[in-house]
Amino acid sequence: MDNRLPMIAGNWKMYKTCSEAVESARQLATLAGDAENVEIMIAPPFTALTGVFDVVRHTSIRLGAQNLHWEPEGAYTGEISGTMLFSAGCRYVIIGHSERRQYFGETDDSVNRKILAALAAGLSPVICVGESESEREAEKTFSILDKQMQNGLEGLSLNQMDSAVIAYEPVWAIGTGKTATPQQAQEVHEYLRKFLVGRFGEETAQKTRILYGGSVKPENISELMGLPDIDGALVGGASLQPETFSKIIKYKN
Ligand code: PEP
Repeated sequence: MDNRLPMIAGNWKMYKTCSEAVESARQLATLAGDAENVEIMIAPPFTALTGVFDVVRHTSIRLGAQNLHWEPEGAYTGEISGTMLFSAGCRYVIIGHSERRQYFGETDDSVNRKILAALAAGLSPVICVGESESEREAEKTFSILDKQMQNGLEGLSLNQMDSAVIAYEPVWAIGTGKTATPQQAQEVHEYLRKFLVGRFGEETAQKTRILYGGSVKPENISELMGLPDIDGALVGGASLQPETFSKIIKYKN
């Protein structure tokens, strides 16, 4: 991963009020704002985006959202578009998180539409893929990932892929305390990179960051980051506490 800038991203899910999010962002900027050779991204809930942006706009911390709608605007009550997210200060958006696939009916097709919409709005999509426990047990991990990648990345040009990030999140490891073993994670990341080589060519595949997500903690980040195809982490639970999250960001220290 020599020429890929590591990325540590925090998914705050449906946690934190506006004032709590702003306070956490302030603490994080103090604790981790000086971290070098790593890109930091936080994805607070929609309601806290502008408040958090005011805190991080002059720091190295990038702002992300957790979802978007595929249309730039329209009669879609309750939805938020990529254009709106960009105007709120976002430069990233998480797409296809397993919780959205599981509880909100997201499919590879809607994920694909959202990825294209994010790119059109100037946002870098953080595209989540991953197998469930039963799929892993049935030895379907690679065929599931293949389908998610193939369908999710349908129609993306080389240029568009250049600003995308992939996050491998085995569903059985999210919020469960179970982490994929370093071997399991590396095996999948290597597979995903080979997929990118086949689909977009060697140069783009080597540039694309592939994050690992699933119960990442200060105790396991260094080992994961030591693997050749792991370029960062998408962190849920452990990103909610600035002290804990800053330890993950500063995994090299
Ligand atoms: C996530 O929500 O993307 C995630 C990986 O959660 P956790 O770190 O809590 O497993």
